[in-house]
Amino acid sequence: MSWWRPWADRIEPDAPIGAMTWYRIGGRARWLAHPRDAEDLAALCRRVRQEGLTLRVLGRGANVLVRDEGFDGVVVRLDAPSFTRVTFDGARVLAGGGADLMRLCRTCAERGLSGIEGLAAIPASIGGAVRMNAGGRFGQLGDVVRCATLLTVEGALREVEKAGIGFGYRTWGWDRAMVLSAELELAVDDPLRVRGRFKEYWRMKRATQPVGERSAGCVFKNPPQESSGRLIDSAGLKGATSGGAQVSLRHANFIVAAEDALAADVLRLADHVRRTVRDRFGTELELEMEVW
Ligand SMILES: Cc1cc2nc3c(=O)[nH]c(=O)nc-3n(C[C@H](O)[C@H](O)[C@H](O)COP(=O)(O)OP(=O)(O)OC[C@H]3O[C@@H](n4cnc5c(N)ncnc54)[C@H](O)[C@@H]3O)c2cc1C
Repeated sequence: MSWWRPWADRIEPDAPIGAMTWYRIGGRARWLAHPRDAEDLAALCRRVRQEGLTLRVLGRGANVLVRDEGFDGVVVRLDAPSFTRVTFDGARVLAGGGADLMRLCRTCAERGLSGIEGLAAIPASIGGAVRMNAGGRFGQLGDVVRCATLLTVEGALREVEKAGIGFGYRTWGWDRAMVLSAELELAVDDPLRVRGRFKEYWRMKRATQPVGERSAGCVFKNPPQESSGRLIDSAGLKGATSGGAQVSLRHANFIVAAEDALAADVLRLADHVRRTVRDRFGTELELEMEVW
């Protein structure tokens, strides 16, 4: 009997996970699991570990590129109702790890809750946004996180206060742990004002980034006191192509993909950008996008 029989009704073998990412390119996962709740997921983690398999959790796939040859392991999606629930208690919001960040930003703006309107146009699940400490000019999600419930890869539950989460620039301190939920501490404000800022941030994002195209957001992290986009642009790489991948004409730190692009096209172009910037400016760019 195969190891995953107890989860047979919620594990898909050979699942097209590349198509579930924002890029909508790349291969399949050996298994895709949709656990029912925290207990189910904890049992799955322990079993996966016993089997010596690799486990990853996929949110909106807005920061992931799946290789064309696929991912040889178990991918988890927190799409069951117990992971997507959002509840409000005054200015505190408890959001499941699988809840949608963009939808939550809109709902909070409508309710006059301020603190995440600056993240309005960032495609993410709450879990992916906590793990990446998603944000930009108008703040990071970590700024408003009070605490989070995590599940370690060993299958142990942990309630962690903000200070213990270890938020940094597009990173946190918990490696491959999974965010089951996060509690956000927002501020009550005039709904009209919050909605106004929300719309303004959306407008600015659309004007400066290719938000409607297939991408994984910024390909590279910004080096200290520098902008990767500026370096890539100064190296004359805007519009550079490799197969179906192109350095965005709107924002040089985005690599956008045509419908028929391969993940290999994106990887080849990212490598070309990295080497060109290193040769021109002596700066080593570090990937922000994750490659599976
Ligand atoms: C058009 C566009 C614009 C973007 N703009 C921004 C921006 O302004 N600022 C910014 O920071 N990012 C931006 N990004 C990148 C992306 O939106 C963020 O990195 C976001 O946090 C990814 O969330 P996700 O749910 O899609 O995670 P995924 O891409 O699915 O996963 C990313 C990482 O998070 C992990 N992960 C996912 N869910 C969980 C969970 N529940 N618990 C623990 N780990 C988890 C994954 O395993 C992986 O390691 C942009 C992307 C796009 C496509």
